[in-house]
Amino acid sequence: MRIKVLGCSGGVGPGLRTTSLLVNDAMLIDAGTGVCDLSLAQMRKIGDVFITHSHLDHVAGLAFMADNLFDLIERPVRIHATAVTLQTLRDHLFNWKLWPDFSELPDKSNPLITWHVVKPGVPDRVNGHTLTAFDVLHTVPGVGYALEGKEGAFAFSGDTYATDDLWTALNALTRLDSLMIDVAFTNEDDELARVSRHFTPQLLGQELRKLRHKPKLYLTHHKPGCEEDIARETRKALKGWRYKHLRRGDVISL
Ligand SMILES: [Zn+2]
Ligand SMILES: [Zn+2]
Repeated sequence: MRIKVLGCSGGVGPGLRTTSLLVNDAMLIDAGTGVCDLSLAQMRKIGDVFITHSHLDHVAGLAFMADNLFDLIERPVRIHATAVTLQTLRDHLFNWKLWPDFSELPDKSNPLITWHVVKPGVPDRVNGHTLTAFDVLHTVPGVGYALEGKEGAFAFSGDTYATDDLWTALNALTRLDSLMIDVAFTNEDDELARVSRHFTPQLLGQELRKLRHKPKLYLTHHKPGCEEDIARETRKALKGWRYKHLRRGDVISL
């Protein structure tokens, strides 16, 4: 399993892109601005897109990818998300006002994208792997995804604050080799983290005591400009853990 990080920042700027993971060149988990660096040939290989939640930093690239692929693909790209997230995307993004509804283009019987409901706790089989959504706690309904194959297991929290749902789902996995998890704000911004439903290093360190596995941690979604402070605070908060501050272009291999 090869997971390429197309974007993992909490914002944009030179060298910074928002959340998107390319799995085995065929599937995306989230479709933030990182998608916009893919070539047309790379976009054409993507058959499935799994979305964690409706925020723009996780779906902006989907709008542009759909537009790029118009008239170029023979079969639709399958967009997977929870029912509530799909409804938000349809009502507020692909609504003919902000962007065309590509599930009706070029025509309804031959659309560019199709919608598929993800149910937390119910596994999907995708390209030889098992993908299971689990509930997290964010300002809008959100999920994370666990991706399991014979090579190992990877999980991505999506955007989340402290919640037992996250740890219960992860502890239920038979193994967990790699965990990509949100650390958006510094400890000093703990109130902002609480209201915007993201982790700080200190809070993540505390919460990780609930995890029975010892995965390698991949830390993501750092607010631009806060990377160095988050790194300094993480050294203290995650003592004893193997971890990496993710960067665009990194590859997580299992
Ligand atoms: Zn979010
Ligand atoms: Zn986000």
